[in-house]
Parts: sequence; C-alpha cells; structure tokens
Amino acid sequence: MSIVADTVLAYLPAKKKQTPSGWIAFNAVCCHHNGTSQDKRQRGGLISNSDGGVSYHCFNCGYKASWQPGRNLSYKMRKLFTWLGVPDSEISKVSLRVLQENEGVENLNVTVALPSFETVPLPEDSVNLATCDITSKHQVEVIQYMAERNLFFEDYEFYWSPSLAYRDRLIVPFTHRGEIVGWTARKVRDGKPKYLSEQQPGYVFNMDAQTDSKIFGIVCEGPLDAVQIEGMALLGSEIKEQQANLINTLNREIIVVPDRDAAGSKLVDQAIDSEWSVSMPEWHKDINDISDAVNRYGKIYTLYSIVTAAESSPLKIRLRKKQWFGV
Ligand SMILES: [Zn+2]
Repeated sequence: MSIVADTVLAYLPAKKKQTPSGWIAFNAVCCHHNGTSQDKRQRGGLISNSDGGVSYHCFNCGYKASWQPGRNLSYKMRKLFTWLGVPDSEISKVSLRVLQENEGVENLNVTVALPSFETVPLPEDSVNLATCDITSKHQVEVIQYMAERNLFFEDYEFYWSPSLAYRDRLIVPFTHRGEIVGWTARKVRDGKPKYLSEQQPGYVFNMDAQTDSKIFGIVCEGPLDAVQIEGMALLGSEIKEQQANLINTLNREIIVVPDRDAAGSKLVDQAIDSEWSVSMPEWHKDINDISDAVNRYGKIYTLYSIVTAAESSPLKIRLRKKQWFGV
C-alpha cells in the first residue's frame, strides 16, 4: 500500500462493490464536474495495485486519473481527491509525502528506462469468453471467428462485451505482470475501425507468457499472431526504445518475425539495429504472416520453421530480406 492508495480508499463513497477483476465500483464523483449528468449506475471504478499504485476510470463521462510509485501526484488525481471530499490540507500533505519519497527513486527510474503501466478496465461489462454464458448471436459470431483463426481458449483469456460498440469484436486484454494494462478489440467481420484499442507507451504484448523455460523470445507485429506461437507483439511495425528495453530484460535470444509487407521490411532493419535475430522462414509465397502460416502448416511446424530460420548476422539477414520481400 501507499499513502495515495490509503487516502483514496478512505474517502470512497460508502455504497460500493468489488468486481471479480479487482475494481471497486461506485457512483462516479467526476461526471457533473465535466458537464455530464450524475452517475447513478456505479460506473466509476478504482483499483489499487500490489505496488501501491491506483487508477480511477469513469465509464460515464470518461474521466481518468492514476498514480504510480515514483511519480508525483497529478493535477487530475488532485481533482479526483477534491471531488471525493478529501480536505485540501490532506491533499497537500499527501502530495508533499509523495514528493519526498520520490527524491531518491527518480534517478533510479531514469537509469533503467523501463516503461511502467497503470491498470485499466476492459470495455464495460466485459466477460471471459471461456467461462461466460452464451447470451447473444454476436457472441457466437465472435467464437466462430476464433475457430476460423485457430485461436483457442487455452492459449489466452479472450473477452467479449455486450455493449453496442464492442459486441461484434474479440477483446484481447493486454496484461503486464498479471494486471490488465490495456486491450484491443478486433472486429470479427468487415468494417472499420478494425481495431479499437487502449494501449500505453512502451507496452509489449504477451511478456507474461515469456516464462524462464523459454529459450527464445519471438517478437511479431500483431497480438493474435503472438498468441498463436506464444510470442510477443510490438502492436505495430516499429520497435520503440522502451519496448526494446523491456524485451531485453528477458536475457535470451530475441527473434523478430516480420509481416511480409513494406512495413515488415523496415522492421527488419530496426531488428538489426537492436542486435536481435530475424527469421524469414521458407514459407509459400502467399503466406504473409504468422496467422497465415499457422492456418497452413499448424502451430508446431510454424514454430519450428521460425526457430530454424533465425539468423543473427546482419549481412545474412539483409541478403535473405531481398529474397523474402522480393525487393
Ligand atoms: Zn464521470
């Protein structure tokens, strides 16, 4: 716990309930300050993490505020304190304590340069697809999509939400050290946007699955590709510095598998700069990414072909790249 968590928990409204995902739900205190009508459906949520950090999210007006160890008390967090009824004198006291505690910590964070993440809620009313009741035809559609893409409940915890914006989407939570720190919701039929996401800077998808027993860390672009081969995803075709730092903490050979398109070709160059290996396996010409490969060859052969084609020499990677991308 932390002084911030202690204070905010002490001032929560009396009427509240604990949700299975660890959030405390209560009538939001923010909405009428933000020009939205008062919440009467307990759409405000607060979570406190084991490290003492706290996050507040409102599903009614969309207000968010959070605090993590090593940071100072933000303006939005102070406003939340005020709306909860914390006296100004106490807010000043908490703020000062946090400042003092951070004096030593701040330098430490700079040298390591690792990203940190706050906990966020999944879209409203999300349920675990593996354990929930089937209540709608949209849900059936989402499960059918999973089947077509060879995605299985034992590979990852997939979610679904009945709310209008999400009901025809497969929700993939982004976890970090067991806590949900983001998500993406992929549309299961044609239509835009293909993905609705909440993602924090520096996040790497599926780090939690990189157990000590794994000899390699396989890095690809998309989250569903990553799930299929128990790899990690950059959630884009660029390697951000904080992502690289996080991945390097695994201390093992990192193998990047690019998508076979222009962006993937650039990713290969970034992988070389990061001193990582790159794999461009002998797949058929029409196989453009890991999902295609798993569909055609199955998971085991796909993994085998990735690992055996991994190349660490920049010269050899560049030669192979010309062949693979046909440029
Ligand atoms: Zn609100």
